[in-house]
Amino acid sequence: MRAAEGEVVDGPVGRLVEPLSVVLGTRSANPLAKLGLRTTGELLRHYPRRYNPPGTLTDLSSLQIGEHVTVLAEVRQATVRPMRNSGFILSAVVTDGVRSLQLTFFAKRRNALGAHDSKLKPGRIGLFTGTVSAYQGNRQLTHPDYTIVGADADSQAEAVAAADRPIPIYPAGAAIPSWRIQTCVQTVLGPLAEADVPDPIPASVRTRHGLRTLYETLRDVHEPTDDSDWKRGQHRLKYEEAFVLQVALARRRAEASGQEATARAPRVGGLLDRFDAQLPFTLTRGQREVGAELAADLARANPMQRLLQGEVGSGKTVVALRAMLQVVDAGGQAALLAPTEVLASQHVRTLRALLGPLAEGGFLGGADDGTRVALLTGSQGAAARRENLLDAASGRAGIVVGTHALLSENVQFADLGLVVVDEQHRFGVEQRDLLRAKAASAPHLLVMTATPIPRTVAMTVFGDLETSTLREVPAGRSGVTTHVVPADKAAWMDRTWRRVREEVDAFHRVYVVCPRIEPDDAAVAGTAPRASGDEDGADLLALDLDGEGGTGRVRPPLRAVLEVVEELRSLPALAGVDIAVLHGRMSAADKEAAMAQFAAGQVQVLVSTTVIEVGVDVAEATVMVVLDADRFGISQLHQLRGRVGRGSAPGLCLLVSGAVDGDPTSLSARRLKTLEETTDGFVLASVDLDLRREGDVLGAAQSGAASSLRLLRVTRDAALIAQARDDATAVVGADPTLESLPALRAAIELQLAGEREEFLERS
Ligand code: ADP
Ligand code: MG
Repeated sequence: MRAAEGEVVDGPVGRLVEPLSVVLGTRSANPLAKLGLRTTGELLRHYPRRYNPPGTLTDLSSLQIGEHVTVLAEVRQATVRPMRNSGFILSAVVTDGVRSLQLTFFAKRRNALGAHDSKLKPGRIGLFTGTVSAYQGNRQLTHPDYTIVGADADSQAEAVAAADRPIPIYPAGAAIPSWRIQTCVQTVLGPLAEADVPDPIPASVRTRHGLRTLYETLRDVHEPTDDSDWKRGQHRLKYEEAFVLQVALARRRAEASGQEATARAPRVGGLLDRFDAQLPFTLTRGQREVGAELAADLARANPMQRLLQGEVGSGKTVVALRAMLQVVDAGGQAALLAPTEVLASQHVRTLRALLGPLAEGGFLGGADDGTRVALLTGSQGAAARRENLLDAASGRAGIVVGTHALLSENVQFADLGLVVVDEQHRFGVEQRDLLRAKAASAPHLLVMTATPIPRTVAMTVFGDLETSTLREVPAGRSGVTTHVVPADKAAWMDRTWRRVREEVDAFHRVYVVCPRIEPDDAAVAGTAPRASGDEDGADLLALDLDGEGGTGRVRPPLRAVLEVVEELRSLPALAGVDIAVLHGRMSAADKEAAMAQFAAGQVQVLVSTTVIEVGVDVAEATVMVVLDADRFGISQLHQLRGRVGRGSAPGLCLLVSGAVDGDPTSLSARRLKTLEETTDGFVLASVDLDLRREGDVLGAAQSGAASSLRLLRVTRDAALIAQARDDATAVVGADPTLESLPALRAAIELQLAGEREEFLERS
């Protein structure tokens, strides 16, 4: 262990930046580069995915079928030949002098077998590990792990000892198999010493938790002598991931609380008071409590950093509006950032409706000291845009609503005091920062999300924000019932469309959601980056998400808006029903018109992509039919069904899926079943976490943070994350700039660089 923290021989990254092409030569470095591994550090951070158990050293005379064994034997012959249908086979025979055993390797291309061919020369001795099987009466090992050993007794004894260790299995690729990666790692790790591998975890923290150094840890995971080694190593690496992330977040928090913001104290008799007086309903207790938290935050001279989470329909908009009015009362402006144009326009309508005359400042008949709500979207006409830009820049508009267009350079504010981001998951940290840069002093920040976020995820992804939660939904809602409908049962589908008809006849409205826009779309809607404001931002699951991709099951093509609308128009059950479409390839005006007609009831059935996912509010909508429902994530489906049952009539959500019939235990079936069973957003969020891949969970929220997590699982490592958070807070408190901890600083910079890269790729 090093004597003092930060005392590093070759700078904070030691020898870990050495290019592999220099250390290993290009023949090994090139295939490793295909896996994204270019430096010593990157290779050593390429951890084994799992470990195969060592085989017990077995005599060739006592091989049992099905047993996992290691044998020491001599190669007698090895031949490669094409197989009858396609591909190649290498069969080798090894012997102990009396008995023999067959080794078999398969490959698509002949040269893929070249490495084995050149090692398995007659007369060589090797240790072969694998599971014994029988083929045409002969015992054999298929694709055994093996090492060739020297002919002398010493090197054989050494090899036998080494064979008694767990075998690391690396994530590999076509260009380079696991065993070659292992050899490269050993070559790189061999000559390194403790001082070559600076440790991001300070010695004091290591000592407190009994953690080994990074150098020792890399040996634990890459060259374990037994299972306890790699388990110990993995634990320490997980802790390290949690710790580095938490230090980065702690620094962001410290930075924000060190920044100056304009204090926006409430004003008695101002817009907010008059707004409260005219509000047609009473605030829920949650709305009042969160409101008080926000009011206090805004009155402070450093920027609020708050996440507001609350179920769909829990009334976040009113809470946000009240915070905005407090800022306007104090002479500032508020910006409300929405993920889509549809939603931005709807916010403007909602805010104007809630504000009434208070939103008509300067207009005839408006309140004297009222304000204005301006809308800025990418697709609005030049004249409207100019006027709204002017309203924002002059300060005439106290509230400016927009999509990512608000981030563009030519949008200016007179005095931006508060930024509200609606539906956080479409905005990254960088975008938040861009908006923040538009204010003279740091504006207050409120991020709203309808996806309940379990504590550890909040700590991981939004660790720089404080959290407020709206748990109750205003009284008077009828709620939603959810049913799963098997797509391949004609009678069920008939019943679905007849049900839709019944709702229409009762003057209700129906959404039909599809995963794609056009039948022949190569890509599904929503594969475009959502950061760019993609309106069909469907959070579609990859085909192999369930691990079902390899079963060879052929799935029918995904349902598409433009195809489904034609089908529905020709259904006798829906004769006379007006059906319209809504999707991201329509112009903003067309989308706007479609929503307006649907809201007014001129159109009763709206076939759309998930463009209606967030925030859209039509009180008469009672049924949500989701086609190919298994292709959407749990939280997205929950959001979707939150669109119905918002008025006094109960809502019905029908999840149509072809994936539920076959296997009721499949992940798809379980996801949909969970939605049938509960409407509690927090329960759903934690099931979602359990069932989805980690990357998808974090990726939907903020992919930058996710990319730095390799071993850490926010689902399972809650205690570790909480511990790391405490440690990180203490470390940053003692040394805010991490001056004495260069290795830690370097690790954070590396992580930020990754985040930035992802942001650039997405935008
Ligand atoms: P979300 O949290 O999903 O953004 P909204 O803010 O859109 O929810 O609120 C949903 C609906 O509930 C809106 O029509 C809003 O006016 C209404 N609402 C909000 N708060 C209350 C309340 N305390 N009582 C009754 N209705 C409310
Ligand atoms: Mg909302």
